[in-house]
Amino acid sequence: MYAMARIGSVLACIDPPGPVDCPACSILDRGEMPVGSGLTKRDLTKFKKLLDEKRKGVLDNAKKTLVEDMTLDPNDLPDEMDLASSEYLQSFNFRLRGREKVHLKKIELALRKIEDGTFGICEECEEPITKKRLEARPETTLCIRCKEDQERVEKDFG
Ligand SMILES: [Zn+2]
Repeated sequence: MYAMARIGSVLACIDPPGPVDCPACSILDRGEMPVGSGLTKRDLTKFKKLLDEKRKGVLDNAKKTLVEDMTLDPNDLPDEMDLASSEYLQSFNFRLRGREKVHLKKIELALRKIEDGTFGICEECEEPITKKRLEARPETTLCIRCKEDQERVEKDFG
């Protein structure tokens, strides 16, 4: 007899996990099983791609700014900057402007959340963030309600 647990609306085996005849496990395998945030694996893959593209966009933009600011010859920059590993990134990162830096951090945080399974869950109230909101701003960490609360507070103090 397998130990069962309720995941979302489906009963799934947890101990031992993954017998081939378990309907929930086969759904999991197909990537259609919603995780905590109500998103499926397929959704997460999509958001990861979206975030990767955004990240690239911010970096490209910063690269352009950097070139303009420093009057560097763009030809001196590597075509395919291996940003994640190169030493270049450190000096580059250093020069990123405050706003870009914050944005980039948010994107990277969201990518980490995808890895650890907390993506799409509001950091304040721990409720799922709507898919529509995530599609517009995949790097968001708050649901619309908490975001509005936050903005109200900021306005009160600002
Ligand atoms: Zn919330």
